[in-house]
Amino acid sequence: MIPVSTVRLPEGTEELVTEVIRSGMLASGPKVAALEEAFAALTGAEHAIAVNNGTTALVAAVQALDLQPGDEVITSPFTFVATLNAILEAGATARFADIDATDFCVTAEALAGAVTDRTKVLMPVHLYGQTADMAAIPALAAEKGLAVIEDAAQAVGATFDGRGAGSFGIGCFSLYGTKNITTGEGGMITTSDAALADKLRVLRNQGMRARYQYEMAGHNYRLTDLQAAIALPQIGLYDEVVKARKSNAARLSAGLADVPGLTLPTELPGRSHVWHQYTVLVSGEAPVNRDELAAKLLERGVGSGVYYPKTVFDYDCYRDNPRVIASDVPVAERVARECLSLPVHQYLSEADLDTIVEAVRTIMEA
Ligand SMILES: *Cc1c(COP(=O)(O)O)cnc(C)c1O
Repeated sequence: MIPVSTVRLPEGTEELVTEVIRSGMLASGPKVAALEEAFAALTGAEHAIAVNNGTTALVAAVQALDLQPGDEVITSPFTFVATLNAILEAGATARFADIDATDFCVTAEALAGAVTDRTKVLMPVHLYGQTADMAAIPALAAEKGLAVIEDAAQAVGATFDGRGAGSFGIGCFSLYGTKNITTGEGGMITTSDAALADKLRVLRNQGMRARYQYEMAGHNYRLTDLQAAIALPQIGLYDEVVKARKSNAARLSAGLADVPGLTLPTELPGRSHVWHQYTVLVSGEAPVNRDELAAKLLERGVGSGVYYPKTVFDYDCYRDNPRVIASDVPVAERVARECLSLPVHQYLSEADLDTIVEAVRTIMEA
């Protein structure tokens, strides 16, 4: 069985975790500080603030902007539910702008069309490991006086015009078990605004600047040194991980070129894709549809994933929520019907890649 994602922690991890266990200081300490420094370097942002997961990174980022009830955040309808849940948890209203089927991200054009006089934040999601258009989106934000929060949960290390994901606005990353760098559960916020970084540090620690010196109603969003110790050895190896994922993606694309009914993902000019997922679109006219392809791949021992099967707001639990403003997003709806992610992770062998290519070709050409 070739799984769509798998985790093998690098050598040195157990020693580092053991060091934390033996130190007796299991909460936030020097390992978290080292991970923050590494993340700032990796993204090119000046400050990095570790939190306990990617969702709380997004919640804190929105809360730090002091929105008022009724203020709106515009995001992608084609994302993991955490993006929407975080906006709601922070007390804001969510609006959606359609995506482009090439990079799977919200477009500046659609965002511009969704802006109202209550809009305060643009929240692009850098889906599958490639950034949104981070020239046009920050330009729109500047023109309209809006903040940019990047949901970069899947895109650590991705770049746009040589700049790192998370360095354009407030960057929010996830260190969840399936993400490119993982601590099981964990998150990171990046910013080059020193005052905002300071506020986020206070917010994550119960609103305390120092013990019993409360400055705001905060949270316990702290990461632990145990978790940071798991992530640290992965940072030094991350360039290699990205190289392997890029090479796997290239091999899949070479092998799957010209398969009828299949649209392959691309790395757009000026962007560096970190290939969190390799996602193809199975056309409605293809001999097998997306779900049939996934089922037949499984029979042949090839795992795959549907990220995501519906637009994020299209569930009963959001239907009557006045803070979830559904909109017409035909591209996102089509992509949700057609998308299938194939294994691309760094542990695939050449034989695995050939198996995946062969299986997809055989099924699609049957
Ligand atoms: C994983 C993910 C999150 C949430 O991160 P957690 O660490 O699981 O809370 C948010 N947005 C996107 C796009 C994600 O993929």
